[in-house]
Amino acid sequence: MKTYQHWINGAHVTPSSSQWLETVDPYQGAAWARIARGNAEDANLAVAAARDAMYKGPWSTMTASQRGKVLRRIGDLLSDSRNAQRLAEIESRDNGKILAEMQGQLKYIPEFWYYYAGLADKVEGTVIPVDKADMLAMTLREPVGVVAAITAWNSPLQFFALKCAPALAAGCAVVLKPSEFASASSLEFAALTQEAGLPAGVINVVTGLGQEIGTPLVEHPDVAKITFTGSDRTGAKVYEAAARGMKRVGMELGGKSPNIVFADADLDQACVGVVAGIFGAAGQMCTAGSRLLVQNSIRQKFTERLIEMARKLRLGDPLSADTEIGPISNPPQYEKVLRYIEAAKSEGARCVLGGAPATGQGLKGGLFVQPTIFADVTNQMRIAQEEVFGPVLSIIGFESEQDAIDIGNDVIYGLAAGVWTQDIGRAIRMSKALRAGLVWVNTYRAYSCMVPLGGMKQSGLGRESGIEAIHEFLETKSVMISAAAAAPANPFLQR
Ligand code: NAD
Repeated sequence: MKTYQHWINGAHVTPSSSQWLETVDPYQGAAWARIARGNAEDANLAVAAARDAMYKGPWSTMTASQRGKVLRRIGDLLSDSRNAQRLAEIESRDNGKILAEMQGQLKYIPEFWYYYAGLADKVEGTVIPVDKADMLAMTLREPVGVVAAITAWNSPLQFFALKCAPALAAGCAVVLKPSEFASASSLEFAALTQEAGLPAGVINVVTGLGQEIGTPLVEHPDVAKITFTGSDRTGAKVYEAAARGMKRVGMELGGKSPNIVFADADLDQACVGVVAGIFGAAGQMCTAGSRLLVQNSIRQKFTERLIEMARKLRLGDPLSADTEIGPISNPPQYEKVLRYIEAAKSEGARCVLGGAPATGQGLKGGLFVQPTIFADVTNQMRIAQEEVFGPVLSIIGFESEQDAIDIGNDVIYGLAAGVWTQDIGRAIRMSKALRAGLVWVNTYRAYSCMVPLGGMKQSGLGRESGIEAIHEFLETKSVMISAAAAAPANPFLQR
């Protein structure tokens, strides 16, 4: 079995507890590696390494252009097909995401590094035409400080890029704690960044349980900013702890996104978009289009079409090229998905596809759930309000555009939304009316390193991707310089 230590200050480091956690392959249903079970002592070590790298080491004296070049080389390393394939296989094995999707993701992840490489030396302050005589006033944009990045298990390498690329471009150093369910790819990747010339201590990866090493990181006095991706429940705890230290936070949390199909939509495209939006990654996406809102006049016809397409999806080994849906990533999540399916049935939702664990040939001891569709869902049901994070779709009918807006917005979340219509006016009206951080029109699950993504309402705080993301890691400092030739006559008169 492979053993993964922490990655601290450019070296593999044994956990101070000498304890390890097993990491399970959700397809084989067996442990394939072990990771360090970190604690506060390890957190201290990693934060000290990050702090020294940021304020004393070579990172502190490098120009923004030089930092950008390192980021570019990190992108190049990821573009190397051997590295990409190796990392894709590790992540597939660790969290069950299908290899084809991982390969696609890894083809795109270098773009994040290139984008922020380019942005690193374009961070500018301002000179203010200040209303004081003999005074120069300006703003400097400075790195916020040491960053603790805490991430979920569904897309570890993507989160690594989303958080670390802008943080490093801003001049910060990072301690990353990936999920205990999928840490291996982040550790492998962190070690690889050394080849790009990233100085030791700029990226550190520590592993373990949230309460044992995540909490000490969040509470550490030398951590200035927490960037978190995970559930809203944990996010609230982290937010509270961060508030006690007046730390900056970025929160990427859950969602219950409406995917809204109007009768005037191109129904072929809409059907593919709805299936991809809920059954891609076995529904384990924060942006999953888990509430399908369909206009009543086409509801029955569209439901039949969906069932037809979803029924054919191939479940299997995530490493096999034929597989379209892999297992649920870990046992607690698997149990949670099945509990929601039972809750939906007992609430009166009509199960029109799936609704049970998937077993059979090729599914071995894996944590598989059948693609599941519930019809006759009302927006008050738990299955319409709470995040399942699995391959479970709820269908809700609506009559008018206003109905679609009211139902679409009637959840605590506001991460993403999809709209399918051929009417341009409606597309614009809906895009404005939906309370979501990202609205897709006639597409779903389209992401770009240049387009900000983040939550409204309880889906989070702040934005990742795009120019906005680098500002999340910067602090404004104002500088006022007197050019007066002589001391003021009255020392107590405010200038
Ligand atoms: P989680 O909240 O259980 O865990 C997330 C991370 O927090 C893990 O690394 C965990 O170890 C750590 N953690 C747990 N308790 C902690 C504590 N007290 N202090 C500090 N850290 C702690 O989430 P998960 O189950 O890993 O991920 C699934 C969730 O992530 C879903 O709700 C999903 O919507 C969300 N998610 C959001 C986005 C987004 O961009 N908005 C993306 C992917 C996933």
